Amino acid sequence: MSSGTRIVICGGGAIGAAIAYFTSRRGARSTVIERHAVAGAASGKSGGFLALDWCGGPLDRLARRSFELHAELSAELGDPWGYRRLTTYGGYAAEDDISRGAGGRPWLADGVAITRQLGSPETTALVEPRAFTTGLMHAAQAHGAVLQHGIVVDLLRSPSGAVNGILNLTRVCRDRQFQSDPSGVVAVLPAGRTAVRPFHPPLRLPSPPAAWP
Ligand SMILES: Cc1cc2nc3c(=O)[nH]c(=O)nc-3n(C[C@H](O)[C@H](O)[C@H](O)COP(=O)(O)OP(=O)(O)OC[C@H]3O[C@@H](n4cnc5c(N)ncnc54)[C@H](O)[C@@H]3O)c2cc1C
Repeated sequence: MSSGTRIVICGGGAIGAAIAYFTSRRGARSTVIERHAVAGAASGKSGGFLALDWCGGPLDRLARRSFELHAELSAELGDPWGYRRLTTYGGYAAEDDISRGAGGRPWLADGVAITRQLGSPETTALVEPRAFTTGLMHAAQAHGAVLQHGIVVDLLRSPSGAVNGILNLTRVCRDRQFQSDPSGVVAVLPAGRTAVRPFHPPLRLPSPPAAWP
């Protein structure tokens, strides 16, 4: 990716904040367009649970790399989101059932029964999800990324259907169009409405690090 490449990111969730952080760190001019608030959707309300090896198939390498990256990010950025490795358990709670007891675990309510161990500190971890997303966005902004309040309403495409690098959006209150640099790159990544298209021109990211599993 050439320095100064313009990248427009739709959505200030964990995904948008991460893209903004990594691209701005590599010298891109990244702009995040967020219609509500950073971490205002799923990324601020999730469990914040991280697992090394719960994804089979083609996602397995990605999940393992993500797990590793969380440790690196927390060390790199001072961990304002409480990253921690921990032992995790699965279980259930039944109303008025205190017969099973907490099994010697003072942190567990009496009505909860643990059925199995899910992971160990080597394979499971936790973050505070809102703090993680906002922390990553702040780190991106420190590298020059820009956060704008606005609503993405459409992508402009060439006759072939490819996103041609121009994003058509209406900014809240101002109702005017914003056009990105046609030589730039557009990423649209709100959860559930993902519209990641082949970029034009292609996004050239550096090769994965040698440590990539
Ligand atoms: C209850 C719950 C628990 C979860 N627990 C876990 C867990 O423990 N571990 C885990 O790994 N995952 C968990 N997840 C999944 C995880 O939260 C999501 O996969 C992740 O947050 C998705 O991030 P995102 O950035 O893609 O989307 P989001 O967090 O949804 O962010 C999208 C952003 O885009 C903005 N937006 C949308 N449309 C537009 C538009 N047109 N213009 C401008 N902005 C727009 C939204 O306002 C939002 O801020 C959980 C999810 C839920 C709901």
